[in-house]
Amino acid sequence: MGILAQIKKLDYNIFKYKYICFLIDIIFNIKLSHTGDRKEKYMQQRTIKQAVEVVGIGLHKGEPIKLRLEPLDVDAGIVFYREDLAMSIPLSPASVIDTRMATVIGDKNKGFISTIEHFLSAVYAYGIDNMRVIVNGNEMPIMDGSSISFCLLLDEAGIKKLDAPKKILRVKQVVEVQDGEKFVRLSPSKKASFDFDIKFDHPVIGEQSQSFIFSTHDFIEEIARARTFGFAKDIQYLQSQNLALGASLQNAIGLDDHKVLNPEGLRFDNEFARHKILDAMGDMMVSGHNILGSYESFAGSHNLNYQLTSKLLADSRNYELVEVETLESRAFAKSFA
Ligand SMILES: [Zn+2]
Repeated sequence: MGILAQIKKLDYNIFKYKYICFLIDIIFNIKLSHTGDRKEKYMQQRTIKQAVEVVGIGLHKGEPIKLRLEPLDVDAGIVFYREDLAMSIPLSPASVIDTRMATVIGDKNKGFISTIEHFLSAVYAYGIDNMRVIVNGNEMPIMDGSSISFCLLLDEAGIKKLDAPKKILRVKQVVEVQDGEKFVRLSPSKKASFDFDIKFDHPVIGEQSQSFIFSTHDFIEEIARARTFGFAKDIQYLQSQNLALGASLQNAIGLDDHKVLNPEGLRFDNEFARHKILDAMGDMMVSGHNILGSYESFAGSHNLNYQLTSKLLADSRNYELVEVETLESRAFAKSFA
């Protein structure tokens, strides 16, 4: 065979090879797009697939509150909306107006929304970046006093990935707020972790700890069902002041001086410490983004958490708002279901 003929044969073989590769590529891509498994180039921003609604009792007024969640587009953020007042409240530490009993956002004169932290804990866990949160009253429904109903609501809505990279707040240096022996602290870390210690002079609570390395799955298993708690004598006083009118053993762990009052008992031995982590995750989400860092606290509160996110964001040396893909480690991206 002459050189010319050999080259022609080689050309033909290369052509055949390229043609087969082309066909394989097409078949493979069709299969991937059918199964929805096409590999993401980057971790995308998230909203919900469809609007969902739920009605529940408000803790303070004891009246029914309708909660509706609607999808929002890229970079819209989490936006609360008082339907009865036609008032938008963006999620940010700057919107926080009270932290004594719960985390409250809004404007003292125009209107507010109370007890956002249990809902926001689920928002953190599902990695939702953009969503409208509509209520027709001044508080979120308390549901069963934990986050699990909000997780189920987000499951019903479904997660929609948007065509833009997800941004998170990466903690760059230690930020801490102290009040006597109480403290809350954020430190740089490749994973989002939460460590909480509490100490109550009460036979059921006493000293409790919980450590939690975040993943959506583990949040649902270990944290989301932990309920808020209250002491019967405090509830009686609050109700005499026309507060906590909706509080009952259906939406909180109730305690007298000696024991748990709920007939079903506790969901976890250290349900109190777990609920403190649930609160902390919700309060960190008030920053408007998932925070990547290690959170630690002894006897922290909504007020200390609020001071912590405010202090974090007050100095640009403390944090950076980064796309998840620019992180060295994939651990954080992988922790979201
Ligand atoms: Zn709580």
